Amino acid sequence: MDTARIAVVGAGVIGLSTAVCISKLVPGCSITIISDKFTPDTTSDVAAGMLIPHIYPDTPIHTLKRWFKDTFDHLYAIACSAEAADAGVHLVSGWQIFQSIPAEEVPFWADVVLGFRKMTEAELKKFPQHVFGQAFTTLKCETSAYLSWLEKRIKESGGLLLTRRLGNLWELQPSFDIVVNCTGLGSQQLAGDPTISPVRGQVLQVQAPWVKHFIRDGSGLTYIYPGASHVTLGGTRQKGDWNLSPDAQISRDIFSRCCVLEPSLHRACITKEKVGLRPVRPGVRLQKELLAHGGQRLPVVHHYGHGSGGISVHWGSAMEAARLVSECVQARRTPSPTSKL
Ligand SMILES: Cc1cc2nc3c(=O)[nH]c(=O)nc-3n(C[C@H](O)[C@H](O)[C@H](O)COP(=O)(O)OP(=O)(O)OC[C@H]3O[C@@H](n4cnc5c(N)ncnc54)[C@H](O)[C@@H]3O)c2cc1C
Repeated sequence: MDTARIAVVGAGVIGLSTAVCISKLVPGCSITIISDKFTPDTTSDVAAGMLIPHIYPDTPIHTLKRWFKDTFDHLYAIACSAEAADAGVHLVSGWQIFQSIPAEEVPFWADVVLGFRKMTEAELKKFPQHVFGQAFTTLKCETSAYLSWLEKRIKESGGLLLTRRLGNLWELQPSFDIVVNCTGLGSQQLAGDPTISPVRGQVLQVQAPWVKHFIRDGSGLTYIYPGASHVTLGGTRQKGDWNLSPDAQISRDIFSRCCVLEPSLHRACITKEKVGLRPVRPGVRLQKELLAHGGQRLPVVHHYGHGSGGISVHWGSAMEAARLVSECVQARRTPSPTSKL
């Protein structure tokens, strides 16, 4: 069996998890991750890392739910293992609160997280401006630790990591047989995709070890997420804004919004301000494409556009991407004039 040379472009949570899934699912291949940035400098490093799915208008809910469940189950197994601290994955309980009754009191993911229930009157007393709430336990992924942990898995299975910025996917031909495009926002240029654009998010990291429960306003705009070493306060959603520098006025606004929900934060000390650009698209692009140019062919699996919820679904969509890569490898090993990608 000849070795299929696979290049995974992008080293955020999508590229690294896809590479790990390929190494598990596709025998007889070599894997090289090519990326201009690695942890701690990717968008994935900025993510708060909470497992609460976001809806993509063009991705069916049943697909999203499957990806979320696969991701939850994968991370829950890590959280229950001796690897939990190294991988930066742990359980966290708390509340999602609403100023008016939401259209869906029980969201589609309610039976995936643990112990989902309506908040009691006594719990809601803590939030006088809110009339409804959901209490549940979910997982939080400290993304920088998790990305390093995934990189370690890739190296252990013989994969290589290469720092390089690509201007065009054809630069990978003839060195690679199959390309997996996990470049997030970079796909605007690399895949010529005008439907993907940035939605800027700014977050603060504070020292407030007494905060144990997460609190998320149902709008998704204001949130308090306690983690292993700090509490993340958010956030913003600024469409089409490419500015990666923290804005001091926005930081003050985030801090005061969070203090309304959790007044004890007034005593917290801000240690970091971070900005990331969410790769937003109407739906995740998970698709094979056979690029052709002057008699040359290059099979590509696109896997990008996870927007505001990439951490929540990464493992499920990575397993599906790995299956598409496996099909490309099969097609390469059994070529036929009628075989289509
Ligand atoms: C403030 C904020 C909070 C968030 N909180 C959450 C949360 O709580 N839960 C959740 O599920 N999601 C959250 N997200 C969303 C999540 O961060 C993204 O969905 C996810 O990180 C996308 O991962 P990615 O690997 O596709 O992109 P990225 O992490 O951006 O990775 C893309 C990779 O491609 C590389 N690349 C791009 N172009 C090129 C090129 N031309 N050549 C070579 N390499 C290239 C980049 O260097 C990078 O390594 C949050 C996002 C932000 C900004």
